[in-house]
Amino acid sequence: MINIIEKKKRGLSLEKDEIEYFISGVVSKKIPEYQTSALLMAIYFQGMNIEETTNLTLAMANSGDRADLSGIKGIKVDKHSTGGVGDSTTMIAAPLVAACGGVVAKMSGRGLGHTGGTLDKLMSIPDMRVLFGSDEFLKLVKKNNLAVVGQTENLAHADKILYALRDVTSTIDNMSLISSSIMSKKIAGGCDALVLDVKYGSGSFMKTFNDALKLSEMMIGIGKGAGLKTHAVLSDMNEPLGRNIGNALEVREVIKTLKGENMDSRLLEVSLEIASHMLVLSILAKNTKKAKSMLESALNNGSGLQKFKDMISAQGGDIRAVDNPELLPAARSIIDIKSDKAGKILSMDISGIGKSAMLLGAGRAKKIDEIDSAVGLIMNCRLNDEIKCGDVLCFMHVNDDKNQSMAAELFNDSINVG
Ligand code: URA
Repeated sequence: MINIIEKKKRGLSLEKDEIEYFISGVVSKKIPEYQTSALLMAIYFQGMNIEETTNLTLAMANSGDRADLSGIKGIKVDKHSTGGVGDSTTMIAAPLVAACGGVVAKMSGRGLGHTGGTLDKLMSIPDMRVLFGSDEFLKLVKKNNLAVVGQTENLAHADKILYALRDVTSTIDNMSLISSSIMSKKIAGGCDALVLDVKYGSGSFMKTFNDALKLSEMMIGIGKGAGLKTHAVLSDMNEPLGRNIGNALEVREVIKTLKGENMDSRLLEVSLEIASHMLVLSILAKNTKKAKSMLESALNNGSGLQKFKDMISAQGGDIRAVDNPELLPAARSIIDIKSDKAGKILSMDISGIGKSAMLLGAGRAKKIDEIDSAVGLIMNCRLNDEIKCGDVLCFMHVNDDKNQSMAAELFNDSINVG
C-alpha cells in the first residue's frame, strides 16, 4: 500500500491490479483508514486518468451486491442527479417515462448536507415504503414498469467506506472520486441505460459549466467501459430548480406538475429533458423531439400522474395524498422572509439556501440525523428579479423555533441583492 500511495503521490498511473488490491483491502479492512485517506488525498491532488477511474469504478461496483435485473423484459433505464436543491426531477421524469412504455428500475439515495434525496422525499408520503429485498424490487418493477427504492446496504460496498472517509478528509470534490462513486452504484444497480443530470453552479460540486462537462465526459467514458449506455444532461444550479425545497413540499410541487398545473417551470423543463433522453436510450423514441411529444401527451392525458399513483400504491403509500395533498405532513407555521434591501437579485448561494432548509430539519448534517418531512422553504424570488425592501423572498415552513432565526439569517445572506 505504501508503494501505491508513493506512486500516486508522484503523479504516476495506477495499474488495474493495484486498484483492485486497494479496493479489496478497503472492504476487508486490511488497509488501515490512515493509508486509505492518504491515497484519497494523493488522488485528489494528482487526479486519475479515464482508464484508472474506470478500473476504480469497476472494482467498487464488484465490491458488494449487484442487482440482477435480467428477469425483467426491456431496457432498464435509470437516472441520476449529481445533487441539487429543489430538485425533484426523479418523481416527475420516472413516472412519465414509465407511462410511455419505459422500464424504470431506480435505486436512490438519501439526502446528505445541503442536497436532498429522493428517498426522503418519497417517505414523506404517508405509509410509503422504500426498503425492499431484491426479489420484491423485481416484482415491483414488473408490476408497473416503475419502482424507486433504497440502495441495498451492501451495494458497491467500497463506496460506503470511501465516501465516509472522503467526507471527513475534504476529498469529496474530485472528478475521479465523484465519477467512480456515482457510476459504481449505477453499474451495481443493474440498469442497461442511464441518464445523468450533471449540475453546475453555486449549489453543485462543479461550479462551472466546463467542469460539469468534464465530469460528464468522464462518467460517460466509464459507462462505455462498463457496457452501460450513458447520456448526460447539464443543468444550471445557480438557483433552486423548483420553487419548493423540503421533502413533503417537493412532493406537493411534483403532484402539481404531474397534474399539469406547473407548466412554465424550470423543474418541468429539466424533467422533460432528462425523461426524453431516457426514452431515446430505451429505443422507444427516435429522437428527443419525438420523445418530448410522447411525454407531453402522458402529462396532458394524466397517465404520468396515474403511474406515480401506481408506484406509490405498490410501495404501500397512501395515494389519497396525491388527490388531496392536505394529507401530506404540514408545518405548524409559515413565516415570510423579507428582503432588507432593494435592487436586483444578482446571484444566489444555493448551498446556503440548502443549508437553511437543512437547519429547519429538511435535511441531514450527519447521516444519523432525523428528517422533518414537513419543513422547508418555498421560494418567492428568482435570479434577476427587481425587488423592493420588505418584499417576501421566501415562505419558511417551520415546526421548531430552535434554528429558525439562524436559518432565516442564512437564507437572507444567500440572496445577493445589488
Ligand atoms: N454523489 C455520490 O454518490 N458520490 C459522490 O462522490 C458525489 C455525489
